[in-house]
Amino acid sequence: MFDKVLVANRGEIAVRVIRACQEIGVRTVAVHSDADRLSPHVLLAGEAVRIGPAPASESYLDMDAVIGAARETDAEAIHPGYGFMAESPEFARRVSDAGLVFIGPPAEAIAEMGNKTAARARMVEAGVPVVPGSDALVDAEQGRIEGDRIGWPVMLKAAAGGGGKGMRIVEGPDDLPRALDAAAREAGQAFGDSRVYLEKYLPDPRHIEIQVLADSFGRVVHLGERECSIQRRHQKLIEESPSVVVDADLREQMGGVAVAAAEAVGYVGAGTVEFLYQDENFFFLEMNTRIQVEHPVTEFVTGVDLVQEQIRVAAGLPLSVKVSADWPRGHAIECRISGEDPLGGFFPSSGTIRALEVPCGPGVRWDGGIMEHFEVGLHYDPLLGKLITHAPTRDEAILRMRRALRELQIEGVRTTQPFHLAVMDEPDFRSGKFSVRYIERHPDLLEPREDDWQARAAVVAAALLEHRSRAGGSPLQASTAASRPGHGISEWRRRLGSGG
Ligand code: ADP
Repeated sequence: MFDKVLVANRGEIAVRVIRACQEIGVRTVAVHSDADRLSPHVLLAGEAVRIGPAPASESYLDMDAVIGAARETDAEAIHPGYGFMAESPEFARRVSDAGLVFIGPPAEAIAEMGNKTAARARMVEAGVPVVPGSDALVDAEQGRIEGDRIGWPVMLKAAAGGGGKGMRIVEGPDDLPRALDAAAREAGQAFGDSRVYLEKYLPDPRHIEIQVLADSFGRVVHLGERECSIQRRHQKLIEESPSVVVDADLREQMGGVAVAAAEAVGYVGAGTVEFLYQDENFFFLEMNTRIQVEHPVTEFVTGVDLVQEQIRVAAGLPLSVKVSADWPRGHAIECRISGEDPLGGFFPSSGTIRALEVPCGPGVRWDGGIMEHFEVGLHYDPLLGKLITHAPTRDEAILRMRRALRELQIEGVRTTQPFHLAVMDEPDFRSGKFSVRYIERHPDLLEPREDDWQARAAVVAAALLEHRSRAGGSPLQASTAASRPGHGISEWRRRLGSGG
């Protein structure tokens, strides 16, 4: 096993990886930008190295700075988390060239899966069903021909795509030229690669993905599915395991295909094979060659620590997973708590975390990247933390999530918490009848609601703040709370729609 691992990330995933290391006796190094000097991942790690100013391009994306920090601290391996450099074959290569271990798949596997058209071609070869589509388009004329062949409507997607960016639905051939120009421009700006391709647009699919783990001894296993259909603008908001539409037979079928996909590219480590599911058919969408945000739901229903398995495998050890016939055990749900205002178009919200109370109790897990006094800025992804619940049945996991969401108190920035609470009470979500279009079909979820728990929570928050300022809490904190408009107790009530 490694003696010391550097975590090349920030926020909740850096905290998650550091915790995994600490449990298995691996020492940790955090890296941070100036904006994150005082953040949970820095305080939790054994050592911390400053790698640059706040902009990610000058810190968390600076390969030399990150590799230099590993050298300087004698770390043997680098865990990239997700985002930033996690899916950069160049970074994986440079880490190995520096004599360090990249905790992730081989650079070739990242490269093969990173380009969507190449990955699709590879999957067709391996016998994996893919969404019908085209290769990268040369021009609009070719796009028209491909669209006619595939059948309209189609979806334009960036070959180098990710994070739901650069996708466009094209209803018919007349709309194609303009959409193609716009999509190519957007892809160029976002990914430095303007190649786009077509996929058949599925009108009402579910997003279901399979977690796989592979070691360097040729063992590849799957750990069942995650249902990730609750999305806004193609970005996941709520995930669960198992999916209500997947039975044991379908799980084995999809799991087998996912294992074949991983084997086809010589995969090692943790990966996710994503599918669209519609009318009892499933189609390969893409493979994410890293740990996913939503990995905790799989951990709850299998008992496997995915991050520790990643580290084991990277250290050259075999997987320690014992696949069990009684997986999935119970039901797990995750709500992504972001610093975004769900009642204001999910506009990013910044500010200082003035108070933070995280829920606990049976079957509740909080994977967070914030703490009191932490300054939430606009430099990075708005994810603040994830609330995950586990219970014997889906209904109980939902009730538990509702309870936990009510206990969660984040003071100082607007968060997606009220949105999640509304979903937990919504009949279609409760009955499991939804697709990736769930949010567009339920615009009411983005309206303010009035609930008596919110009034109670506001009173508790008010008392807490008052107690802290009286007990000699930082005068700065007390005066900030009182004087800054839009950040006081009445604001909290307003935000939760409890009438002030
Ligand atoms: P990204 O890599 O940018 O996250 P994905 O290919 O994983 O993009 O797709 C993200 C989401 O976009 C899917 O979960 C689904 O909601 C939607 N989507 C993608 N492809 C299609 C398609 N062919 N038809 C309908 N919806 C799609």
